[in-house]
Amino acid sequence: MQRLKDKIRNIPDFPEPGIQFKDITPLVKDPATLRLAVHQLMFPFLGEHITAVAGMEARGFIFGSLVAWDLGVGFVPLRKPGKLPHDVESASYELEYGSNTLEIHKDALTRADRVLLIDDLLATGGTAAASCELVQKTGADIVGCAFVIELDDLGGRERLSDYRLHSLIHY
Ligand code: AMP
Repeated sequence: MQRLKDKIRNIPDFPEPGIQFKDITPLVKDPATLRLAVHQLMFPFLGEHITAVAGMEARGFIFGSLVAWDLGVGFVPLRKPGKLPHDVESASYELEYGSNTLEIHKDALTRADRVLLIDDLLATGGTAAASCELVQKTGADIVGCAFVIELDDLGGRERLSDYRLHSLIHY
């Protein structure tokens, strides 16, 4: 995983003072580390009969759609408010910086779905907890949540203790 870590750039005080922003753009620009990250994200969930991948706007779209492609299943976007055109469910939550709302199309998933949730980074877990809640509102099951990066000191893992979590890199 050092190969992945070498491609993650730390940007101090972005987007506001005190935040150490983990920039994954060098990792996704490099074909070898992009492929490695995608394979490692899905590896523990092979054989789990995943039927869909859900990913959060915006960086979850990058990794989530590639994992969906590799698993041979569809991708469900969890989007910022006002972006999805059909009937939606919404969930609001606090971020490491600021607050946010995410939405899912009500008909994006059904009770028959077994979902893998993907995002670039787990911090306080607010985004992932709200995302799990949204997926479950559709009746689908969350099989697990996978992240490229986990910030261990921010309590995300404790907050998501009901779910199977998988992170490639820890800070
Ligand atoms: P949280 O809800 O606190 O777990 O925050 C996770 C979400 O916020 C993810 O979608 C990340 O992309 C973003 N995020 C939070 N903190 C950082 C950070 N230090 N560097 C990069 N992205 C972050």
